[in-house]
Amino acid sequence: MSDCIFCQIALGKIPSEIAYEDDELIAFKDIQPLAPVHLVIIPKIHLRSLNDVTPENERLIGHLFGIIRRLAGEFGVAESGYRVVTNTGTDGGQVVGHLHFHLLGGQALNARIG
Ligand code: ADP
Repeated sequence: MSDCIFCQIALGKIPSEIAYEDDELIAFKDIQPLAPVHLVIIPKIHLRSLNDVTPENERLIGHLFGIIRRLAGEFGVAESGYRVVTNTGTDGGQVVGHLHFHLLGGQALNARIG
């Protein structure tokens, strides 16, 4: 989608600090990090949120979580621990309408949910 900021990042039209990329996914550093390690991992296809994921996307989402696990190791937070978050819809606090997963770590994270 031409007006989607994350599609623009996936196409390389908006610069980002890329941590990982393949044909299906891209992971980049969050522009406003909430923790010492804060990556955003997205599928390149435009899915608006987790609500748009269908059984056809299950392999892709499994691949995405495998990459998140790998990035947690590469960024040194696998042992200390980390959090993976996908905000969905208005009440979920989703701002960018392209499915994405936050990988947060590098410090003790507030255990409170919501
Ligand atoms: P929230 O802003 O509440 O976390 P989202 O879950 O929609 O809502 O997250 C969007 C994330 O994308 C934010 O953490 C924001 O800092 C990040 N972001 C927005 N634009 C860019 C960009 N150009 N490069 C990197 N990260 C970005």
